[in-house]
Amino acid sequence: MRKTTRRRKEKPPKDFFTDWLYRKHLLSGWVDCHGKGILSNRAKTRAHARAFGIIVETRASLGAMVKSLVSNRRCIVDCGSMCCYFPAGRGLGVYLSEAEAEKISSLLREMGLEEKDCIKESALKGGKPMRYLRLDKSRRVPKKPLASSPKLLSGEKLWIGESSLACMLLRGGNVCRIYDVRPRSCRAFICKTGDMMNYLFSAGVIVPSYLDDKKGSEINDLADRCLLVFSDEGMRKRDSRITVAFMELVKEYLKDGKNLDARIKELVGLASEYDKKRGEILRIV
Ligand code: SF4
Ligand code: SF4
Repeated sequence: MRKTTRRRKEKPPKDFFTDWLYRKHLLSGWVDCHGKGILSNRAKTRAHARAFGIIVETRASLGAMVKSLVSNRRCIVDCGSMCCYFPAGRGLGVYLSEAEAEKISSLLREMGLEEKDCIKESALKGGKPMRYLRLDKSRRVPKKPLASSPKLLSGEKLWIGESSLACMLLRGGNVCRIYDVRPRSCRAFICKTGDMMNYLFSAGVIVPSYLDDKKGSEINDLADRCLLVFSDEGMRKRDSRITVAFMELVKEYLKDGKNLDARIKELVGLASEYDKKRGEILRIV
């Protein structure tokens, strides 16, 4: 009898970076839940004072990291703002919700710009026009940076091609005219290269000037290696062990504090091992 093999349903690849980010967010929330106890528990010994410093510093760096990678998302890569170019064929840039369109319109008026020059209305949806930022027909994507343009999280190159046009609000010098009120789609845009470099910066591994003399292809390669930090099983286990060790330190700090020295030693050891292995993966010493 002929054997039939049933094909297993392929699982979509897991987004390890987002997963990691989510766990950091949960951890900072967990520390906040114990915040009152931590702040009111005055240091009685040197170990207590040291543990307090580690806890406060870890909470602050977790918060700053989550903010910079989720809500703030200022990209440190000077790639020529490739994410502000769009395919010319459709002639439409970023979609604007009604509230965004209103906010941006009033800002444009303050800047002395004509709303109709920057915002385009398209087909009706539910009786209302959909609004988009216009594209600048006089400004094509520059060819040189396009050759090594950043990649999306899925590993694809950005969707732009040689005929792509800039968003109407992209100023010379690749600066967004409305950066602080830029639409949600711009804030939430996922670019692997940008996200990984921002992670390296907020984790204190690089300073922005580290990228100054790097070619686009080198930065993309670094982003690829950086993603391995989150997908590598050994690194994920190390990260989990650090989380557990940190939580145990907080609990010990809130309890009698007898084993604080041992807890601190364990946490510092795990963290330095993590940094060393991360440096090996990134090839940054
Ligand atoms: S609104 Fe600003 S950030 Fe968004 S695409 Fe236009 S120039 Fe870029
Ligand atoms: S998010 Fe990506 S495309 Fe946009 S500026 Fe940063 S690296 Fe360039």
